[in-house]
Amino acid sequence: MQSQVIQEPIRRVDAAFARMKERGFGFPRFKKFGQYRSLLFPQFKASPIEGSKIKLPKIGVMPIVLHRPIPDGFGVKTVRVIRKHSGWTVTLCLQVDVDIPDIAPHGIAMGMDVGLSYFLSTSEGEQVERPRFFGKLHRKLELLQRCLKRKQNRSKTRSKLIEKIGRVHEQIAACRMDWQFKLAHHLCDQAQMIFVEDLDFRIMAKGMLGKHTLDAGLGQFVNQVLPWVCFKRGVYYGKVDPNGTSQTCPDCGARVKKDLSVRIHECHECGSIKPRDVAAGQVIKARGLSGIQIASGWDLSGFQETGARQDRVKDEILKSDLGKPALYA
Ligand SMILES: [Zn+2]
Repeated sequence: MQSQVIQEPIRRVDAAFARMKERGFGFPRFKKFGQYRSLLFPQFKASPIEGSKIKLPKIGVMPIVLHRPIPDGFGVKTVRVIRKHSGWTVTLCLQVDVDIPDIAPHGIAMGMDVGLSYFLSTSEGEQVERPRFFGKLHRKLELLQRCLKRKQNRSKTRSKLIEKIGRVHEQIAACRMDWQFKLAHHLCDQAQMIFVEDLDFRIMAKGMLGKHTLDAGLGQFVNQVLPWVCFKRGVYYGKVDPNGTSQTCPDCGARVKKDLSVRIHECHECGSIKPRDVAAGQVIKARGLSGIQIASGWDLSGFQETGARQDRVKDEILKSDLGKPALYA
């Protein structure tokens, strides 16, 4: 193993302890057999990619399936080799020195309420159903996991079954990711500003509907996929205070108390009637817009260009496969 690769575990442990100190909980866990699944090559003098081959120190030249060509002007910063259940993967971290302007708030705004009865509801009245297509794969998973109990510890059939279960998990994750990216692009087609509630999904996942929260991957969508797609598409992404968004009337601002079972918003002050989540989305939109107005003093009826730029290193991630795993533990 190359010297810099061996240094990486120490850096990981150090980062884990630093994170624990910062948060006040979460003592780093020891990695059991089979839990440490990746190698990081942190430094390259020249690009290790040549055609459809990658050259790694101490490993040598390996054929890869390059999913996308490396764009001009980008240098390879780090290479992470991961052993997934479906095969070996390398993730390249690329670097280029360019200034990317921060996205200024502009154009059409949209508020979004995320939840469980609908995956999300926009202030424009669109409601997206919670994806249920993982159900079939989940049943397959349950079946395999029942088989696992009967297997003898450390047996060959057991490790093969674990491999198989891992592949189903990866398939579910890939389906979800694909669906979420398509949804995020669909939303970015409609607006230039998107506002969401600043919720902690880890708390929601502990509740009664926990499994479904995790299945839909709400947190992943709101905190990772959507901001990323917004950044790529030049759409402003903002979070607003979540307190009482579903208890406020979007049309007159009156407080309309309703518990979770009430799915229709019916205002006793102004008489507006609309689906509960759409009303919440409109409240979120209004909060997002007023927040920007307060922060910047802009009149948002027209829109203003800003010269605010921030030096930032643009990292692009490229993934490619290294074929099937040749080594089994
Ligand atoms: Zn009202």
